[in-house]
Amino acid sequence: MKQLSILGSTGSIGTNALNVVAANPESYRVTGLAAGSNVDLLANQILRFQPSAVALRDGTQAEALERRLGRHRRTSVYSGMEGLIRVATLEEADTVVSAISGSAGLKPTYAAVQAGKEIALANKETMVMAGSLVMKEARKQGASVIPVDSEHSAILQCLLGHPREDLKRVILTASGGPFNHVPLEELSLVTPLQALRHPNWNMGRKITIDSATLMNKGLEVIEAKWLFDLSMEQIDVLIHPQSIVHSLVEYRDGSVIAQLGIPDMMTPISYALSYPHHKETSLPSLKLEEEPPLTFSLPESRKFRCLGLAFEAAQVGDSMPAVLNAANEEAVDLFLEERIGFLEIPLLIEKTMEAHRPFRIDTLEKVLEADAWARQTVRRYRQEKNKRGG
Ligand code: NDP
Ligand code: MG
Repeated sequence: MKQLSILGSTGSIGTNALNVVAANPESYRVTGLAAGSNVDLLANQILRFQPSAVALRDGTQAEALERRLGRHRRTSVYSGMEGLIRVATLEEADTVVSAISGSAGLKPTYAAVQAGKEIALANKETMVMAGSLVMKEARKQGASVIPVDSEHSAILQCLLGHPREDLKRVILTASGGPFNHVPLEELSLVTPLQALRHPNWNMGRKITIDSATLMNKGLEVIEAKWLFDLSMEQIDVLIHPQSIVHSLVEYRDGSVIAQLGIPDMMTPISYALSYPHHKETSLPSLKLEEEPPLTFSLPESRKFRCLGLAFEAAQVGDSMPAVLNAANEEAVDLFLEERIGFLEIPLLIEKTMEAHRPFRIDTLEKVLEADAWARQTVRRYRQEKNKRGG
């Protein structure tokens, strides 16, 4: 019986992880849950899964939840970053599912690694910001970091049983998002609503916009670098709109191993929890004979500039990936609030990266310093532009 703490339990990954738990009550028990502001859903999850502790972002909402659960509750309620960290490091938790969206996931995930927990990692931003620190700490604690991201789950499976020195490169696939066939000239006018309509995956808002800009793939390239100890030259990206081949690994004799499956996060979430076993899920079999032809092409670098920016940030290293990540989060928020256009997302990130003087990342504080600097810089550019009337 594995005891799980699920950070981001009210989100797309979190609810799917709870579906996996509900389908396998003999294998998993939920001991901790953490969420942002969805009190109703968290309250239902508490009734259903009876965790020993939960956390909400905000103290007032945590109090409201306590009142709602009543005096006879068996669940302790915490709040704020301290509360998140408490849930991430619960004594009885074996595995922490890291599925908060964005940089808010960094501190609790790192705390879980420090506490020696096994991590089922969905929050790729943690690896982009602090991959070297996280992997170093995981090695020190003997804790494993198992990817939930479908591409990395695929790579993990394609690496199993092959001597590492034989590896030539990994190829991450990308669906291309909703604008794969929209010409560059039309992208400046696309709305958040259009960008939020992903053709294959049903995900949270931030990652859905990242999928439309291809920043998601850029973040995944950096995530792969740290998870699998790769050089940037060993990582390539292919557009594969059907999202059936989740990623591939090429060996030096020319063999290419791929992992396939229907595009449903249930599979990689379940695998991250049961690794190295493949447990039964309720999903239908992949019937390749009923699928459309599988196609592959190179990403268009002029159209999807975020992907190139992520490669650049990783090449520069040090604090640059954290700056890329924070500038992207700010720009995505501005786009969702309809304050900037779609093509301004890469422009703002690029300007911020150009202005940044990279420094060494050897502590979490340094990561947060880079993050705060990038956010301030993006906001300053926006204010300057507003003054000029842009
Ligand atoms: P969602 O937006 O659906 O869910 C985010 C979760 O994080 C919610 O439970 C939300 O709580 C919680 N949350 C957000 N901010 C805070 C905060 N400050 N403190 C506490 N909790 C917070 O996102 P997804 O599930 O789609 O994505 C989660 C992570 O997984 C991301 O890093 C994403 O890149 C990654 N991922 C997602 C995939 C997917 O298919 N969805 C695929 C691969 C990776 P609430 O709703 O209560 O406010
Ligand atoms: Mg992915």
